[in-house]
Amino acid sequence: MDCLFCKIAAGEIPAAIVKKNDSYTAFNDITPQAPTHVLIIPNQHFSNMAEVAKADRELAGEIFKAAGEIASEIGLDSYRMNVNTGAGAGQSVFHAHLHLLGGRTFAWPPG
Ligand code: AMP
Ligand code: ZN
Repeated sequence: MDCLFCKIAAGEIPAAIVKKNDSYTAFNDITPQAPTHVLIIPNQHFSNMAEVAKADRELAGEIFKAAGEIASEIGLDSYRMNVNTGAGAGQSVFHAHLHLLGGRTFAWPPG
C-alpha cells in the first residue's frame, strides 16, 4: 500500500521523530499549527483512530498515553489532542494519527 505514514513508521521516509516504540511513532508535523505540533501514529496501518480503537483498544490507549507523556516531557500544562476523522473534518492523511498541539492558546469552538 502506498501510504505516507506507513513509510514514516517504517523509517523509509525521514521525519523528526519525537518518540517511538514497537506500537507507535511520534514525529513533528511538517506544517506545524502551533509551537508544539506532534503526530502520534500506530506503526500498523489503520485508516483512522476510530478503526484503531475498534480493532485494538490497548493500542488506541497507548497512542493517547504517548501524547500525554510527550506533553508532560515538553512541560505543556495546556494542550490539545485532536483527531480529524474523515475528509469533511479535515483528515488529509488516511493513516490513523493523533495531533498533539501546544504552546499557544486555542479558540473554542474549533473552525
Ligand atoms: P490531517 O489533516 O488530520 O489528516 O493531518 C495530517 C497532517 O500530516 C497534517 O497536519 C500535515 O501537515 C501532516 N503531514 C503531511 N505530510 C507529512 C510529512 N511528510 N511529515 C510530517 N507531517 C506531515
Ligand atoms: Zn499507513
